[in-house]
Amino acid sequence: MSDPKPSALNLMKCKCPRCRIGNMFEYGNPYSTTKFMKMKDSCEVCKQPYDLEVGFYYGSSYVSYALTVALSVATFVAWWVLIGFSLNDNRIFYWLTFNAILLLALQPWLMRFSRTLWLSFFVKYNKHWRTVPPQKTERMVEEHKHSW
Ligand SMILES: [Zn+2]
Repeated sequence: MSDPKPSALNLMKCKCPRCRIGNMFEYGNPYSTTKFMKMKDSCEVCKQPYDLEVGFYYGSSYVSYALTVALSVATFVAWWVLIGFSLNDNRIFYWLTFNAILLLALQPWLMRFSRTLWLSFFVKYNKHWRTVPPQKTERMVEEHKHSW
């Protein structure tokens, strides 16, 4: 017997990629300034460890960069279609300002979502997560946990 598969959109809510139910972060609010990046050691639902190796989450900066570029391209195209650009006025600078404010406002969520996506590249959804234990991490040093 297996549960219905939760949507991949749960990753946008920073859920564990293995069960898509457990939360990856200690606090639900990405805008709590001091503790919004505090992660749990492992999933409280399926026991998946979140720190796979020393410095694991350095790789999430590539994901964050790709997301930021994709979002900027999307707002650029939307602005182009809805408002337009011209050489005779400052509309491109209005878009630049709008885009910068949007990216700054979304930054806490983008950082968390990037870590979730990065982990999901290595840990796939497992419909037998209730019965099958997660893979052991091979290159984790206890003293170096959270050293990223
Ligand atoms: Zn889980």
